[in-house]
Amino acid sequence: MRGFRTAFEGQRIRHVTVNRPDLRWPFPLDLRERLEGQDVLSFHRRAKYILMRVGKGTSMMLHLGMSGRLLLGQSGMNTTPSKHEHLVLETENGARAGLVDPRRFGMVDLVATDQENAHRLLSGLGIEPLSESMTGPYLHSLMQSKRTPIKTALLDQRLIVGLGNIYVCEALFRSHIHPTRMAMSLSKREANSLAASIQAILTEAIASGGSSLRDYVQADGTKGGFQDLHLVYGRAGEACLKCGTGYPVSRITQAGRSTFYCTNCQK
Ligand SMILES: [Zn+2]
Repeated sequence: MRGFRTAFEGQRIRHVTVNRPDLRWPFPLDLRERLEGQDVLSFHRRAKYILMRVGKGTSMMLHLGMSGRLLLGQSGMNTTPSKHEHLVLETENGARAGLVDPRRFGMVDLVATDQENAHRLLSGLGIEPLSESMTGPYLHSLMQSKRTPIKTALLDQRLIVGLGNIYVCEALFRSHIHPTRMAMSLSKREANSLAASIQAILTEAIASGGSSLRDYVQADGTKGGFQDLHLVYGRAGEACLKCGTGYPVSRITQAGRSTFYCTNCQK
């Protein structure tokens, strides 16, 4: 979103090209006519959704799915468009954003700006992990009634949004909490530690441009660097970086997702 904002905020949308009818869901039929000619006023993010607010009280909502990305460039420079480029936005000053999404798990929708939070995909979402409300005591209260493993609860978007599998594994490792522990068993001290770990990890990951697994790249085409800072994620069988060779990192599956942890560090 940061790359998109830099190129588009304050500009007027000149042209919208829709190259196929749908991604995960159909593109709005009036996408083109409601965006063309409008000024891009501001950007907002909620969970993993990007909201581009334009004139006439309209917001374009965008989710990149599993493998989607925005290719930024200049109009006219894209002589060989990607076959997976499904939507192109161009501004009057020549900025160009192409939405590339080979697996088509992404989505684009339009919503009234003053009704963003009522959108069916946003209305049930939990707390933003980097917000000031995300404190240890809040996390503790959130988990008090949850009879699910803490790992699974942290991935539940109705409780906390935008924490992916990688960052949950890393946060539990840093806070020495075993991933199969019941969420409700978290002590206040552990909740304080976990809230701090979550915020520290997300802040570090954003600063390093995210984690590039397989083909994720940032809007300028460069890879993120946080994967080099993973302490447990993707390191099954390797020595724990905290406690050494006697304790290889373990991998289990929880709710269909891989969990990486150290049996010695995490209790
Ligand atoms: Zn360890």
